[in-house]
Amino acid sequence: MARETGVIMNKKILYGFVAGALFLPLSACANGDNAEQSNHTNQSSQKTNNDTTNDKKDPQKGDQTQSNHNKNKKDTKTASTSKDGIVVVSNPKSHLVLVNKTHKLPDGYTPPDLTIPDVPFPYDGTYEKMHLRKVAADALENLFRAAQKDGIILYAQSGYRSYERQVTIFNNNVKTQGEKKASAVSAHPGTSEHQTGLAMDISSSDVGYQLIQDFGDTEEGRWVKDHCADYGFIIRYPKGKESITGYEYEPWHLRYVGKKAASYIQTHHITLEEYIAKQKG
Ligand SMILES: [Zn+2]
Repeated sequence: MARETGVIMNKKILYGFVAGALFLPLSACANGDNAEQSNHTNQSSQKTNNDTTNDKKDPQKGDQTQSNHNKNKKDTKTASTSKDGIVVVSNPKSHLVLVNKTHKLPDGYTPPDLTIPDVPFPYDGTYEKMHLRKVAADALENLFRAAQKDGIILYAQSGYRSYERQVTIFNNNVKTQGEKKASAVSAHPGTSEHQTGLAMDISSSDVGYQLIQDFGDTEEGRWVKDHCADYGFIIRYPKGKESITGYEYEPWHLRYVGKKAASYIQTHHITLEEYIAKQKG
């Protein structure tokens, strides 16, 4: 039911806002490596994480400072705008950096202190996507530990994604679909929140370790929603906020923002976009 509503809503968004509509079958988490996604068999045939949202413009800028208490109103560092019209953020290392379809990280940005959190992954081997920045990795370990105490077993699926990897994915799409179409259907390099090292997609055995909306209705998904803010995480793309975030509901995509911001965002049922706009107020 909810899914049907979502589809209808997305159509509305699409036709309502986007002149010369660009249909984006794109998730915030699509990383082009489905083959290595999981060693477990995907039992579920449910809808995958395709996204059908638009490219709504957002006037906010993500130029907050590194600390979690961003009171620095006189931060006049202006974020520049790239030739594709996307704002390049000036605070890529901030826990509150805003990265979305209209705000991107500087070309080639690599986060400091990437590390692999000591949590379960549903596949063997070592991959780039297992990494997070240290602060987010520590927080994720604490979150997963608390979950386990409550009998909830979570798996980390996909975290850091390098600029280079995004370029590769984008260029592959250009090669196979042409530049115009690739531009429409794939994320511009630098616009993936996964590049911050502060985002991790998580899942559970109940949904075959997939990144699907049904995860939100599982015991694990509900537990995460209720407790993630206590560890500094938010569900970055909540239900009903598609027109603000630019992405469909993704109950699996956790973003580290620090406890203070996470708590505020959760209590007030807002998005990171809205929180940052308030801070700048
Ligand atoms: Zn994600």
